[in-house]
Amino acid sequence: MGSSNNAKNSDDGADDRFTLYDLRVDVVATDRPMVCDHREGEYFLVIGEQIVFPEEGRRRFPLYPLAALLPLLPAKQRSTDDKDWMTTDAEIACPDPHCGGRFRITRVGKRSFSHAETTAVPLPPKDGKPT
Ligand SMILES: [Zn+2]
Repeated sequence: MGSSNNAKNSDDGADDRFTLYDLRVDVVATDRPMVCDHREGEYFLVIGEQIVFPEEGRRRFPLYPLAALLPLLPAKQRSTDDKDWMTTDAEIACPDPHCGGRFRITRVGKRSFSHAETTAVPLPPKDGKPT
């Protein structure tokens, strides 16, 4: 996939780069009706620190399902062990107990980011000693 579009100068050079997965979160129907304002087929993307709604969609998402998804998204963006449940499990139930909606998180690509462009905290020196 692409790299960060940020053009800030970095003294760290190319070796300060790290990779995150881009995610797609799809609303998935079950045999129970959905009672919240999310509809089968709707989706949003997670790219770096941004939630991105598709141009063709409604461009909104209900608060409480989003609150249930948010803790999982940064973990799904990062590489995980093949045997870790975080790697294999992809469907999250809507937190409304009356709602049949589920949300499928799919890793759709990888993107490279610069440490210096994403935090003010410096990398530790290469000799491993703390600053
Ligand atoms: Zn719901």
